[in-house]
Amino acid sequence: MQKLGKNHGGYHGDTIDIRAVLRDVQASAQAHGWFPEIFHEAGGFKWLALRHSSPVTRHPSRIYISTGIHGDEPAGPLAALKLVHENRWPKNAEIYLLPCLNPAGFTLNQRGNANDIDLNRDYRNPKSAEIRAHIAWLERQPKFDLYLCLHEDWESHGFYLYEQNPDSKTSLAEQIVEAVQRVCPIDPSQTIEDRPAKNGIIRPNIKLHERPDWPEAFYLITHKSRLGYTLEAPSDFPLLTRVSALVAGVNAVLAGAPISESAC
Ligand SMILES: [Zn+2]
Repeated sequence: MQKLGKNHGGYHGDTIDIRAVLRDVQASAQAHGWFPEIFHEAGGFKWLALRHSSPVTRHPSRIYISTGIHGDEPAGPLAALKLVHENRWPKNAEIYLLPCLNPAGFTLNQRGNANDIDLNRDYRNPKSAEIRAHIAWLERQPKFDLYLCLHEDWESHGFYLYEQNPDSKTSLAEQIVEAVQRVCPIDPSQTIEDRPAKNGIIRPNIKLHERPDWPEAFYLITHKSRLGYTLEAPSDFPLLTRVSALVAGVNAVLAGAPISESAC
């Protein structure tokens, strides 16, 4: 599969009607019994959080999935829609799904929000109203056994991921790559985003407290979860391929979801 060659200096591929996508997410979620919550409203947009519980498990694995924090990364919200529509969730899991953290960015096809603030650098001392609202929502939730942040990278040569696993839990990185490579090329680069990479896997040695501009994943690993993955689809490939890559990655995690610590 060849890159499209459209992305020069930024993302120049397909865009989405985010209002229509979110309407479809909400309708499909309602049909499949999800619990919706609106945790923020501004500029005519609503920030939606969805929770899906299994009725049969007393100690579910809690899995958090968010996407759409960068408005020039359309595969994430489309992957959220596909996952909700397909409705294949493990029986022992409780899923928390935030299908779009930056709806205004999508109407502008830009990384930042309406004020062009990169929301994914605003989690340490948040200045934006939407990230303050998101953190307030996160503080009301239980701890998660695992988090997934779905992204795209306009420069990459294939799919890759970041793993945060400070307690050396059983890694799911290889099985994510194994599943994704059936539908999308993996970035073979030995250096991605200035970090050493191997077969599309980056295990960054992050000094959280030395960075002032925390992405969402730093907040999550500090406050909400001890294992997580940021999945990066390559946005110079066809949109359907990137959606399939993110969906395959999420499904690989769900298939190997860690057992809830509260059940041990
Ligand atoms: Zn991103």
